Amino acid sequence: MTRIIFLGPPGAGKGTQAKTLADHWQVPHISTGDILREAIKQQTTLGLKAKNYVDGGHLVPDLLVQELVEERLQRADTSSGWILDGFPRTVSQATFLDSLLQKNNLGTAMVINLDVPDDVVVGRLLERGRRDDTEDVIRRRLEVYRSETTPLIDYYGDRKQLIVIDGNKSAPEVTSNLKDLIVSC
Ligand code: ADP
Repeated sequence: MTRIIFLGPPGAGKGTQAKTLADHWQVPHISTGDILREAIKQQTTLGLKAKNYVDGGHLVPDLLVQELVEERLQRADTSSGWILDGFPRTVSQATFLDSLLQKNNLGTAMVINLDVPDDVVVGRLLERGRRDDTEDVIRRRLEVYRSETTPLIDYYGDRKQLIVIDGNKSAPEVTSNLKDLIVSC
């Protein structure tokens, strides 16, 4: 059963690696950022509520994201696992996910922290050029990552669920290190 959570700052390569591994293991790649961007594009109720937060580089309120993840994890395609990219991002989201997994007898997930220095991620994001990849918004997303999401490194470290991977390498090298590590766990 493959259940993997990707942590790491914006631009660490979470999306790229999560997608590659999800294809490899034939499990869904669940990116809360992608789901929110699609909802914004389609102007759904969720999208309308989330738009200003996403465009400004702020976190969407926990309850909204938790609801969307709970719904997504109930779909049939998750029966042999999933790769979560961008969730959880706060301690509250992590405890929510823990209780969801417990409630459904799904054990614990393995958590990958893709470690990349700030100057490298800013350069990568400016090259990518998504609409929330302007310099100001990138700076805010990094601040939010530091204050809200880095506590999860200790949270999962204390629970012995954490694996740290050097993300400052080429994408294929990172993929191959991830495959080696995850198989050996
Ligand atoms: P990145 O890792 O590059 O910041 P994401 O695609 O993961 O990009 O997220 C983009 C935006 O979507 C975030 O800045 C935030 O506004 C929103 N978002 C995504 N996931 C979450 C989450 N788990 N909790 C709150 N907001 C989220």
